[in-house]
Amino acid sequence: MASSSRYRTNQHWLALFVALALLGSIVAYNLVSMRQRLISQEHQRLTVQARVIDKNIERQLEVTSLALEGVIEDLPTLYSSQNPTHANKRLSILADAMPGIHTLFVTDATGTILAANRPVLIGRQIADRHYFTEPRQQYNPDTLYISPPFKLASNGYVFNITKTISGPDGRFNGIVTAEVDPDYFATILESTRYAPDMCNTINHGDGLRFMTVPYLEGQAGKNLAVPGSLFTRHMESGKPENIFTDTAYATGEYRMAALLTLQPKELKVDKPLVILVSRSPDAILKSWKNEAIFQGLLFLVACIGSIAGLFLLHRRQSQFEKQAQRAEAMVQIRYELLEYATMHTADELLQYALDEVCRISNSPIGFYHFVDPDQQTLTLQAWSTRTLQEFCRAESHGMHYGVEQAGVWADCIQTRAPAIHNDYAGLPHKKGFPTGHAPVVRELVVPVIRDERIVAVLGVGNKSSDYTLKDSEEVLYLADVTWEIIDSRRSQEELKQANELLANHARIDYLTGIYNRRMFDGLMDAEIARSCRYNSSLSLIMMDIDYFKQVNDTLGHAAGDHVLQKIAELISGRIRNYDIFSRWGGEEFVIMAPKNDLLKATELAEILREAIELFDFGNGLRITVSFGVTQYCSGEQPEDFVGRADSALYQAKRNGRNRVEIAAAPVVLSQNCATEEFVRLPHIEVTS
Ligand code: GH3
Ligand code: MG
Ligand code: MG
Repeated sequence: MASSSRYRTNQHWLALFVALALLGSIVAYNLVSMRQRLISQEHQRLTVQARVIDKNIERQLEVTSLALEGVIEDLPTLYSSQNPTHANKRLSILADAMPGIHTLFVTDATGTILAANRPVLIGRQIADRHYFTEPRQQYNPDTLYISPPFKLASNGYVFNITKTISGPDGRFNGIVTAEVDPDYFATILESTRYAPDMCNTINHGDGLRFMTVPYLEGQAGKNLAVPGSLFTRHMESGKPENIFTDTAYATGEYRMAALLTLQPKELKVDKPLVILVSRSPDAILKSWKNEAIFQGLLFLVACIGSIAGLFLLHRRQSQFEKQAQRAEAMVQIRYELLEYATMHTADELLQYALDEVCRISNSPIGFYHFVDPDQQTLTLQAWSTRTLQEFCRAESHGMHYGVEQAGVWADCIQTRAPAIHNDYAGLPHKKGFPTGHAPVVRELVVPVIRDERIVAVLGVGNKSSDYTLKDSEEVLYLADVTWEIIDSRRSQEELKQANELLANHARIDYLTGIYNRRMFDGLMDAEIARSCRYNSSLSLIMMDIDYFKQVNDTLGHAAGDHVLQKIAELISGRIRNYDIFSRWGGEEFVIMAPKNDLLKATELAEILREAIELFDFGNGLRITVSFGVTQYCSGEQPEDFVGRADSALYQAKRNGRNRVEIAAAPVVLSQNCATEEFVRLPHIEVTS
């Protein structure tokens, strides 16, 4: 049973762990795929934003390119008007019409500004500027030159979009250039930001950073074209779009970045722009992390809960099993006690029960007391075998003592409830306490209650650990069962005795112990029937004590009774065991002697008469008895049979007492008997 329950327990744990592992994998799978989904969603969003920026800037470049081409076309007209401000005005109108352009001017081949939307610039020399030197060097009228960003005196970064002017000889003849308006680009970048942690940047194809939105100190003008930077990786990949999640070189932050190379198809640009939009992976995954923590905690709670639940379940189950086992053990002991009781005395049973109680409760000491109905006196009835060996003397068996001497047993009787004492150490015992010299350390006493009265107390003592309620329950149960058995046995014995007494009353004469008249009447009918059936003889001897009244009168009634008993004894010892001897009433007796004819019966009567006559009834008291004898006559009524014996007895009295008289039966037609023949009795002389 134990191993099968352990097997079941292991199965439960296995099933639980499999279920938890499954749940854990589902949770983990969900979280991982959720994370993947979030990341790929974010990749898509960043890419889309980069493309939106790309489209806007592309459009700007195209428009700017067209405007610059328009200026170049108009150059002959502008210069021929002889009005030096005319060209400036034209440029000013153009620049104002283009939102992304801040400054627009034209130079000659040497880099001197000839016309500008802002007149202050006219005549300035810009030959050393990158946006001039590069186009002059490259000189391709089809190319739109995009300069690396550079710092203005006003601290902001800008770049120039430039086209070259061809002279009449087809050689380089200056540039038309537009300085972009950073605010315009900032607006584009800002409009595409959808999260506070998002950072949008525009970078020059050579690696110089133009701007970041939001503004980050020191970022503009920074060179990204260093080995290992996201920018370099993007450029080296050769792909127009890339997504990287890594530490950004420029800021040192861990970012998810979408990089896009801006290269308008309609235009031929010397250097592309690179758009880089990025977000912090932490921010992207923040909600996911919270969800992961939440689900993880939930899973943990489920794990702890189910493990604790199963653990508690198993513990309860094993408690139940233990309880059931103990209950079974109790029932088993009850059966053993019942069985033991059939073969042993009550004292032996008590002793055996106590030994069992001590074994169950791990107690060396055990006592069983009966409590008197007055609830004031205890009788020590039995103790466990070990108690006798180790603690006390056998003489205390049956010892009575009052409740006031009974210590903890008194507590139990008074409270009518089990009493537990686990703190006796060093306490001296009360005088008269049967355990006397026994150093009782712990004790448990339970009452057996019947009809509101305590009928017994059972005490155990000196368990090596403290007594508990469980001990008390078990000891109580066994104490009760023991009482039950003893009590039922006692009442059975009482019943048996009462029955026997009752039965004897019905057929035995209480004074002499021989059959009474009632029994005799019953037996006589049976004997008459038998005598008829087997045609065997049946005789009757009737007797009456002579002058018995005098015995009573002179010696007292008790002496008379004694005489009656003695005579019954004398006669009982001299008849056959199938003769039926009975007290007929008062001081008259009767003997029915089957298979005895009149002669033999008369001989018997004579023997009895003589034995009584010779007997000394004490102090020389002599008693005589008169006898009347007759034989049954087949077919006659029992009353006639008895009446004839009675008249013979009367005759004996009349003839002087202390003698045997016989009454011969008349010859009677057998009516009741099996045989129809006349039965003739042997001739016997009848005294008249
Ligand atoms: P007799 O010889 O004529 O029989 O004289 P008797 O004194 O025996 O006279 P009777 O038979 O009439 O008296 C019977 C007496 O027996 C009367 C009664 O006091 C006494 N007796 C009857 N039954 C008991 C009995 O159970 N115990 C005692 N002690 N006396 C009994
Ligand atoms: Mg009489
Ligand atoms: Mg008499």
